[in-house]
Amino acid sequence: MTGGARSPSSAPAARLIEELRRAGIADERVLAAMARVPRDQFVPAAFVDHAWDNVALPIGHGQTISQPLVVALMTAALEVTDRHKVLEIGTGSGYQTAVLAPLCRRVFTIERHQALLHEANKRFAALRLGNVTSRFGDGTKGWPEPAPFDRILVTAAAAKLPVTLQELLAPGGVMVAPVGAEKGKQMLVRVRRTDEGFKTEDLVAVRFVPLVEGLPRNPRRPVEAAST
Ligand code: SAH
Repeated sequence: MTGGARSPSSAPAARLIEELRRAGIADERVLAAMARVPRDQFVPAAFVDHAWDNVALPIGHGQTISQPLVVALMTAALEVTDRHKVLEIGTGSGYQTAVLAPLCRRVFTIERHQALLHEANKRFAALRLGNVTSRFGDGTKGWPEPAPFDRILVTAAAAKLPVTLQELLAPGGVMVAPVGAEKGKQMLVRVRRTDEGFKTEDLVAVRFVPLVEGLPRNPRRPVEAAST
């Protein structure tokens, strides 16, 4: 990653990374990526003092930027390498996308709130994330054109495992997704596409905003798919 990123040695970033390490995150590539992504640029101005705290924060439209520990867990669980083409469902602030970008070949990310996507695109441009392609739309339908994907990360909780999305995985591909009701218990689930079919494992209990089918009512006129 180039330009705009804080030095990993900035004190609040270093404190957060230490906290993640203590919480059991051992993947150094993930920790290095998170140290470099300036989370303070992904939160609303009112919350900037808490940008480096290990908490989820509101980003408007009833949505949140995920807790750093959860971002770290999900990114590590995805086992992503620089050869991988990744699909993310739920761009939100763009923070998770920015953590993935330096760890993989290309990230495709979809968001159903146009205003959030617009802000996220500005951040991707400011940080010169050249391997991010974003789109406004309903992620539950996937993104068939660039499929198959080596990795799929869903950052909003579906009531049931989103099987439409797992069909977009390449052989050997991995999908990580929170599954469960909005107010009920949710589990982070990892799905592997093997020669024998899909293998599913439960990872850790989580709490996410819901994956919502369709687009918000009265959306503004759709914008062209943006590519940075
Ligand atoms: N990855 C984000 C997390 C945002 S919260 C971040 O790091 O900030 C989850 C996001 O998923 C919200 O922005 C929400 O609007 C979006 N979302 C929910 N259902 C969706 C759907 N069907 N298609 C695309 N995005 C969806």
